[in-house]
Amino acid sequence: MRHVKRNWNHRLALLALLWLSGCARTLSTTVPASAEAPAQAESADGTRQRAPVGPRIDVEYRERDAAAATQVKLAVERALPRLARWGAFDDSVTIVIHPNHAALERAANRPGHDFLRAWARYEQIELQSPSTWTLLGASQPQVDELLLHELTHSLMYQVASDRLGWTRKRIPLWFREGMASYTAEQGYRVASLEDLARFWRTQPTADPLSQAEALYQGRSDIVYGAAHHAFTFLVRRYGEAAVRNLLHAMSRGPDFPDAFAEAVGLQHDAFLEDFRRYVRLRGFKGGRKPGPQRPRPDTPAPTVPAPTAP
Ligand SMILES: [Zn+2]
Repeated sequence: MRHVKRNWNHRLALLALLWLSGCARTLSTTVPASAEAPAQAESADGTRQRAPVGPRIDVEYRERDAAAATQVKLAVERALPRLARWGAFDDSVTIVIHPNHAALERAANRPGHDFLRAWARYEQIELQSPSTWTLLGASQPQVDELLLHELTHSLMYQVASDRLGWTRKRIPLWFREGMASYTAEQGYRVASLEDLARFWRTQPTADPLSQAEALYQGRSDIVYGAAHHAFTFLVRRYGEAAVRNLLHAMSRGPDFPDAFAEAVGLQHDAFLEDFRRYVRLRGFKGGRKPGPQRPRPDTPAPTVPAPTAP
């Protein structure tokens, strides 16, 4: 009897272990490299060569997030061609899907950032499972937009630097977030130029460009807005080529301020002052009217459940 009981307990323990390991097992999948790239490319001398191998992008998830992982993989495939304008990944990226927001905050080391849905570094993107973004889970376009934004961050770090040096390039927050928001076409989400003009008029000592880090947690709306519009101003005035030149200049050694001066032909501080003047004097046309608070670019827009067919 005693022996049987011990055996039964052993079986229960084994079952529990199997169940736990099944639940917590991390799965991994690799997104096929540049699905839309031709298998072969014509070189300048007319010979045919294999296209360069695309980036290795892995997705790590738990079994219960398998559907979310499928959304993420599709979003990555769609993002890659749109990222090509800035350069190519030269290192791998792992996208880790976290089961809930608390797990994301822990992985990103960003407590109290309720609006965050993801956090990107050089080689890894922490992502709150899209199935938890809204009550019904995220739509594919929402996942596409967020992944394009986050992958822009990782690509920027990889083009501008390497695994050891990317955190020391002094790339300002306005440029990091502005480039990601511009690439993912998230201007519709952020504070408008008119909102920004009003902010500077009413709070002249607070600057969402030079004090972005300090304002980020409490005023992410205006920080993302300033970042998006400053980056867009940079591209309209100097072209996307200036951004590519800036990234490549950093990859040769200089940090952001020096690389900016070299690539744009203007000191970073002087550029920011030009942009502030443009906003204050309302040099923009067709600026949006101040509106209600909008979701942040790292945050999916709230969805209204689609009406179901009768
Ligand atoms: Zn971002």
